[in-house]
Amino acid sequence: MRRSLALWAAIFVCALCCSFFGLEVWRAWRERDTEIRRTEEMTLTLARSLAQHADDTVGIAGLALADLVERVEADGMGDRERLTRLMVSAVATMPRLGGLFLFDAEGRWMASSAPASPANANNGDRDYFQRHKADPGRAVAVGKPVRSRSRGHWIIPVSRRIDAPDGSFAGVALVTLAASYFSDTYVPFRIGEKGSVALLGLDGTLLSRLPVDEGRIGSNLGHSPVFRRRLQRARTGTYTSVSTLDGVERLSGYSRAAQAPLVVVVAVGRDEALAPWRRDTLTRLGAAGLISLFVGALGAWLVRLIRRQEAVEAQLQAMATTDGLTGLANRRSLDAALEREWRRAARSGTAVALLLVDIDHFKAFNDAYGHPEGDACLAAVAGALAGAVRRSGDLAARYGGEEFALLLPGATAEEVRLVAEAAREAVARLGRPHAHGPASGRVSVSVGAAAAVPGPVEGPALLVAAADAALYRAKREGRDRVAVAPSLAGFARRAG
Ligand code: GH3
Ligand code: MG
Ligand code: MG
Repeated sequence: MRRSLALWAAIFVCALCCSFFGLEVWRAWRERDTEIRRTEEMTLTLARSLAQHADDTVGIAGLALADLVERVEADGMGDRERLTRLMVSAVATMPRLGGLFLFDAEGRWMASSAPASPANANNGDRDYFQRHKADPGRAVAVGKPVRSRSRGHWIIPVSRRIDAPDGSFAGVALVTLAASYFSDTYVPFRIGEKGSVALLGLDGTLLSRLPVDEGRIGSNLGHSPVFRRRLQRARTGTYTSVSTLDGVERLSGYSRAAQAPLVVVVAVGRDEALAPWRRDTLTRLGAAGLISLFVGALGAWLVRLIRRQEAVEAQLQAMATTDGLTGLANRRSLDAALEREWRRAARSGTAVALLLVDIDHFKAFNDAYGHPEGDACLAAVAGALAGAVRRSGDLAARYGGEEFALLLPGATAEEVRLVAEAAREAVARLGRPHAHGPASGRVSVSVGAAAAVPGPVEGPALLVAAADAALYRAKREGRDRVAVAPSLAGFARRAG
């Protein structure tokens, strides 16, 4: 019962530390999820607004083209100087537009906003030119990126067909958007070292990218079915992917432009995005670990204190119930045991036996050998008596002075006699000389035995008195012997 106090304290401290630390770990894990969701939302929001930006840019190019196409279809391409002036001023007022070009039905440069046009330049071989030539549609087309013939950098062609009055193909009007215009726009956004922003065509052709990677512009990233499936499913969304190029796991958000056939993908390195969370978590878990350790150490100290207290109490308890000289149970614990066994026997209807053992002529022993030798003799006799009771539940006690008691719950009359005789013989076998003792010349004891089945009214005093009377008889009959009290009521009937 007392021991379990230290145990409970240890369990409590352990549970406290574990739950505190566990709670911190759980919270950190949840915050990680939150951080990932927040990052995904950030990439999605950014992709949405950059898709809007790309859409607006293509829209502005479309306006410039509409104006130019309308003019050429109405007035023809005759006044090339006027057209050039017009195109230069259009590009000057709309800085998003890289250049404005006009080609005739054979692809020859008729006019452009470029300061100098290459001699005999012909764009009849370009994809967008061939497309408009073959397709009578008048919609604005966004083409695959090409290297500019005038300046050599990557451009994204935005073009429209020009019709002759009879509806036949008369040429193409082209706006070029520099790929770098888009990547420059993406610079201020904080996407981290592992992050990227990509502008793609609907088929997955890379049009522009930050970080700038000229080598990859024009390459098709749309071959992955994931790209197409995802785009088919939803115009905007988020996903996580591991790059086959650098093995980095990224959180991405994508958004398709509302009008133009363009997609913006914003990707952020997952580990990079989680770096602040990781730093915070390490600090906090470190602190939580230290606190747990401190509380644990404090708890261990308390538990040790409780243990020590318990040990002291156990020692005191033992001192209160044992006899200091002989190490046997003392009178107090004998009385308690007698009371307890008496009640138990009354409940179960069994017998309780008591043996009173008294050293013969001990006064004379003391007088002859001295008190210290008397004490040693008492201890030796106690040891012999303790050896004579073997059954669990039996108790050997010092009754007082040179008297001892053996309590034998549940013993039969035969057992009582046997134990009494064994006790007497054990003392005799000690062979301690006693010049003034009984005839043997050795230390001896007289034993008075009594047993009873407790009735409803009698107390254990009855048993003590009977054993005492038997002891008195053993003394009277010559000492160094056993006397058994006449059978008490009930005992004879049951155990005799
Ligand atoms: P009897 O055979 O009739 O029992 O004679 P007895 O001398 O043993 O009986 P009595 O009661 O006259 O004497 C008991 C003696 O036991 C008296 C006392 O000096 C001695 N005694 C009691 N307790 C102790 C003890 O703790 N140490 C020592 N050395 N002697 C003790
Ligand atoms: Mg005595
Ligand atoms: Mg005596």
